[in-house]
Amino acid sequence: MSGTPLCCSCMSKAPVYLDTSSKLSYCDKCFLEHVYKKTVKTIKHYQMLQPNDKIMLALSGGKDSITLTDIMGRISKRMNGIQLFAVTIDEGVETEKGSYRTEAISFARSVAEKYSIPYKVYSYKQLFGENLSRYVDAKAYSGSACSVCGVFRRRALNLAAKELGATKIATGHNKDDEAQTFLMNVLRGDLERIIRSNNENPEFIPRIKPLKRLFEREIAMYAYLRGYNFQTNECPFSQETVRDKMRVLLEQSNTFISGVYDALLNLQDELIQQLNKDRSTINHCRSCGGPTSPKREICKACEYKQALEVLGTLN
Ligand code: SF4
Repeated sequence: MSGTPLCCSCMSKAPVYLDTSSKLSYCDKCFLEHVYKKTVKTIKHYQMLQPNDKIMLALSGGKDSITLTDIMGRISKRMNGIQLFAVTIDEGVETEKGSYRTEAISFARSVAEKYSIPYKVYSYKQLFGENLSRYVDAKAYSGSACSVCGVFRRRALNLAAKELGATKIATGHNKDDEAQTFLMNVLRGDLERIIRSNNENPEFIPRIKPLKRLFEREIAMYAYLRGYNFQTNECPFSQETVRDKMRVLLEQSNTFISGVYDALLNLQDELIQQLNKDRSTINHCRSCGGPTSPKREICKACEYKQALEVLGTLN
């Protein structure tokens, strides 16, 4: 019927998703293909995968990590030489209905099985001696439960990746998460965190974020259209954070500055590139090992010291 909107790609089916940035609408099948292709483009752009990579998927059982596992499972079938395994970290958060992660673990296990990806659960109790609930009850730290949990999760993923021999850890961070983090770091003036957001401490297994250029709503739609169940219950320790305020700020900004999310992520990429360039030009002094400018063999301080020693021998 004339006037009925059609999918921008196949031009034959009714659309189910409107991409508000490009104003293009997709039917279910073309939308799934569109998201897959966008992820592959991100992986290529950031050179996230190399042949023989062993990728550990951080699979919490939420929509982002379920989508990540589905797309990586499809990629691994088409790309020879990469090996996948998936890990859920069980924080040990007790609720009235039992452990907060139990349901998520069943969703996570099911998507891993679909792609024959080896799957394992690691718990804070097993790795750090106690459940998160126990740490919270004991008030053994200052700060929120989430700050402790974040530190433990990062460490737990790294320990798991080392034990499993992973070359990289893939996480399900999306475009909203990434823009919020960058904005938070800018507003705090935290240059070191901006640099580290892409370049982990060498002690840690490198991380990749294949979904970082997909909006959270695109990921939710992808998981829904693929028919996945994913965790929706909220952790009892979750509370309003600065990140929530960044979310609101960005959503509002995007109504009067179009493309604000991509603009921020592009700026972050450029900054990291420039800063890494400057860092790589740092030279080390042959005498004391400290930093010196690129064309110098020894630093100015050692030069002065040596000059003084020479003067001493002359006198
Ligand atoms: Fe951990 Fe906080 Fe998330 Fe709960 S809401 S799982 S405490 S980071």
